[in-house]
Amino acid sequence: MLQPPDTEPLDPPERTLMGPGPSEVHPRVLRIMSAPLIGHLDASFIEIMNEVQELLRYTFQTENRWTIPVSGTGSASMETAFANVVEPGDTVLVPTNGYFGGRMASMAQRAGGEVVHVDAPWGEPLDPDDVAAAFDRHDPEVFGFVHAETSTGVVQPQVPELTSIAHEHDAYVIADTVTSLGGVELRVDEWDVDVAYSGGQKCLSCPPGASPLTVNDRTMEKVLGRDTDVRSWYLDLSLLEGYWGEDRSYHHTAPITNVYALREALQLVAEEGLEARWGRHREMATRLKEGVEELGLELNPDDEFWLPSLNAVRIPDGIDDTRLLAEVQEQYNLEIASGLGDLEGEILRIGCMGYSARPQNVRLVLSALEDALAMQGYEP
Ligand SMILES: *Cc1c(COP(=O)(O)O)cnc(C)c1O
Repeated sequence: MLQPPDTEPLDPPERTLMGPGPSEVHPRVLRIMSAPLIGHLDASFIEIMNEVQELLRYTFQTENRWTIPVSGTGSASMETAFANVVEPGDTVLVPTNGYFGGRMASMAQRAGGEVVHVDAPWGEPLDPDDVAAAFDRHDPEVFGFVHAETSTGVVQPQVPELTSIAHEHDAYVIADTVTSLGGVELRVDEWDVDVAYSGGQKCLSCPPGASPLTVNDRTMEKVLGRDTDVRSWYLDLSLLEGYWGEDRSYHHTAPITNVYALREALQLVAEEGLEARWGRHREMATRLKEGVEELGLELNPDDEFWLPSLNAVRIPDGIDDTRLLAEVQEQYNLEIASGLGDLEGEILRIGCMGYSARPQNVRLVLSALEDALAMQGYEP
């Protein structure tokens, strides 16, 4: 007989989460997660599903029928997009300007796509002229871009220009909106985005587990007309249609508690109002930005491409970021993050997302940074 391990009831530390995700979960969302389960085919649950879909349409600013939470984290809704839209042999154009463009490439390739790139350095957005040139050169069927690049703190401007280039070439556009949905301006229908996916634990302040996806009818026609089955059974939209479409028949058990949580998180978005919420993110991040500038630090991206939900702060010379992160966690119970990939050792990543985007959190980050920098002999 194996003996039980010597563990105690769980008591996780309480941290202030100001990193690239997860963000802090709103108390109302935490509360609803302790509600008892109901069956995933219960009429009451189906009503909750309908409401989640309506609230998601509002948050994405879309009338797409195909607007659902995918079971799993943001990467699951991301993979649902690529696995369904990309058919073997399709050419897929993806960006090189951050970590998540790289993940798009891996997913597109696993779906059987031929991956080609539109280049931009980490820390800059895509230039529409480069996108147009890549279209002329490769004539891709699918184009993916990252609206809010969490690895670099850059927002992609000129989205309608990018989608119109793609549509002139009859391509389908997939947008990564994981760090923009519910935090920075995003208008799926007005900007003519075909597919957008997101996650719960960034600007929606919901625990990861049910991840928003929206697909327009034109793209669903491509998906339903595929010659080959989607390689993933779990993420196959033609099968998920049975559960989230008219039939409401069993495909897999919905993560019921996560759907409750998302329903409440989206309710909070609706109560605040999208534009007010975008404004709050901008206002809180402006305080953060001005505060770090007063400390003599600067943000990595140009002001034009600054992403309020993720602030990439340049690390001054002589500062050890690993030590700084350990210090702020130990002294302040505060989570912020270091850079990834091309920006490793160059930036700190400070989120300002959802329920975490509030004045006391911004003040805490600024004092913690000031202290931790001083410990390493930094003077503004
Ligand atoms: C967090 C994130 C993802 C992946 O989401 P997970 O919930 O970690 O699976 C994808 N794209 C971007 C831009 C992200 O920030």
